[in-house]
Parts: sequence; C-alpha cells; structure tokens
Amino acid sequence: MSPLSLCVIAGDGIGREVVPAACRVLARLRPDIGMIEAEAGWDTFQRVGQALPDATLATARACGAVLFGAVSSPSHRVDGYRSPIVALRRALDTHANLRPVRPLGGIGRPDVDLLIVRENTEDLYIGEERSDGDTAEAIKRITRHASERVGRVAARLAAGRGGRLTIVHKANILPLTDGLFRDSVRAAASGWPALTLDECLVDTAALRLVQHPEHFDVLVAPNLYGDILSDLAAAHAGGLGLAASLNLGEQCAIAEPVHGSAPDIAGRGIANPAATFASLALLLRHHWRDADSASRLDAAIDHVLAQGIRTPDLGGDASCEQVTRAVCDAVLASR
Ligand code: NAD
Ligand code: MN
Repeated sequence: MSPLSLCVIAGDGIGREVVPAACRVLARLRPDIGMIEAEAGWDTFQRVGQALPDATLATARACGAVLFGAVSSPSHRVDGYRSPIVALRRALDTHANLRPVRPLGGIGRPDVDLLIVRENTEDLYIGEERSDGDTAEAIKRITRHASERVGRVAARLAAGRGGRLTIVHKANILPLTDGLFRDSVRAAASGWPALTLDECLVDTAALRLVQHPEHFDVLVAPNLYGDILSDLAAAHAGGLGLAASLNLGEQCAIAEPVHGSAPDIAGRGIANPAATFASLALLLRHHWRDADSASRLDAAIDHVLAQGIRTPDLGGDASCEQVTRAVCDAVLASR
C-alpha cells in the first residue's frame, strides 16, 4: 500500500464542484493515493464555530498534502472568524508559493512561460497593524531565514528550467527590509553558480510584466509584491479559471487554485475545474516528485482545452462535468 494520502478540503461555493472533479482525475492518475475529506470555510464556521476545525488541521498535518478548493469570507468583521487558508499555510509552514504562468490549450500569450515564487510567511502579511484613528501603521517583517529558504526554492526551480532568476524588491526605498531580502536570496542562489541572477525594482517589474512578460523566467519576491505581480501575470494566461498555485514547504504542500468561491456561478455546474487540475499537477510534480503523472495531467488539460472543450469563462459552453470527463479520458489514454 502506498503511504501517500491527500487531505481534501472542498470549502465553499465552486470549491465543492472543482475539488470533487479533481479527485476523480487523481483517482485515474494515482489510484494508490488515499483521499481523506475534511471541512473548512464559512459554512463550517457557521455550523461548528471554527473556520478551520482542529480535526481538519490534524488530518492536513497527518497527510502532509492538501488539496484546497476555495472558501467564502465575510466582507465584514466577524468575531472568531479567521481565514482558514492563511491559518493552514502557517500551520503547515508552506513557506513558498509557486505560481506558474504559461499558456494552456492555446489560450493566452504563446510566448509567456514564467514562474513567480512568492515568500509565503512574512512581510506585511503578519497582520501586525495598529492605529490611533488618525495614524495607522503596519509592520513589514523580513527575516534572513525566510528570505534564504524561499531563495533556495526559487534557485533550485530556476536551475531546473530556463536558468534565469530575477529578484524583485524595492531596496532603493527600503534598504533594510527589501535589502535584506535581496541579499539573502543572492546568498542562497550562490549555491547554483550556473544561474543567471538579476534583480528588478517592483514597479519596473510590473511594467515589464505587462509589456514584455516573455523576458522573464523565474521571479522571486517578498509576499506582497509576489501576490500582486502573480495576479497581474495570470492575465497573460487566460485568467482566474486557469490560474494554479502550490504552497510548498519542507514537509507539506497545499495545492490551491488562485480563484475564490465564485458565489455568482456556484451551483450551476459551469465552474472551470482547470485551475484546480493544474494545481494538482503542481502537487504531483513538486511535493510527491511524480513528474510523469504531472506531465500527463498537464498534457490532458492542454489537450482538452485545445479541442475547445471549455467552460463559459473561456467563451465555451462546456460544463464542469464535461471538462472533467474529457480530462479523465485524456489521462487514461496517455497511459
Ligand atoms: P472569485 O475568484 O470567487 O470570483 C471572481 C470572478 O471570477 C467571478 O465572476 C467568478 O464567477 C469568476 N471565477 C472565479 N473562478 C472561476 C472558475 N473556476 N470558473 C469560472 N469562473 C470563475 O473572487 P471574488 O468574487 O472576489 O470572491 C468570492 C468569494 O471568494 C469571497 O468570499 C472571497 O473572500 C473568496 N475568496 C477566497 C479565496 C480563497 O479561498 N483562496 C480567494 C479569493 C477569494
Ligand atoms: Mn492574491
């Protein structure tokens, strides 16, 4: 029996459509991997008073691998509610967030193939804000430890593909924080002497990502810049229905489509499952180190979309079910 198991958290809204779809695909690819369902999100919070129940966290820790759909978050402050995905990333110490941007199925710019590696644990996202009503401040925390370890991940991944790594920062304005990030990544990357290492101020990077995304290979950035730039770059590759991500740590990983719970289309069977499939492929490749299954899944998604089997967000008229069935067939045919 395989020791591998996956904690499956569908969450709210379309998470409950795209995640079961991805589980069907995984069962075709790797029938040996056990799947254990766990609950989280807004619905869960309303029922049991916790958005991320202790039992879910225990299952996620035991499996080490999580497939997370999406959760709804209230737009107002609710006592006791905290985002389960942020808590889960922290609990599993998934310190690097991988967001590839590349064309799938002939959708998006054919010349773009880049990867954004975002530091996933610190920067302004530590949530240390204070205000006296007239002046508000937030702490931006950068540590050598977190910067070096995300630098090692980015350098390793860059060495395995185009061989170019761009460090994104704003050290001209923030020499202590962003300067530490830049210098720590540089130090980490020195372990890969064949890499072409360069750096780019974040505002310049934004302009270049719009005008010349084809010039980039791997970018590594502190949390906030990485968040913003990866959404921007996703526009080159067909938008939210296709944008995949992986939260990667030393022991654990969480595959997660970039999109949210999409309440406007939930329950209608038209959610695009491709972003979740592509996130699962990242989990196979980078966490379970199964490049063969990952490539088969990527090729199946590519093939189905190229055939025009597409959900309405991509201008097609296929349902989530039709795309899922076609991807399952393509995966089986590639054996
Ligand atoms: P969203 O990503 O849910 O939806 C934005 C738009 O894109 C909507 O029109 C939606 O229909 C469309 N869309 C998104 N994913 C799609 C898919 N797979 N197929 C087809 N169309 C898709 O963002 P939002 O509307 O700003 O947020 C809705 C809820 O999701 C909120 O409660 C928000 O807090 C939550 N959210 C959760 C996460 C997460 O769980 N990681 C991320 C973002 C937003
Ligand atoms: Mn974001």
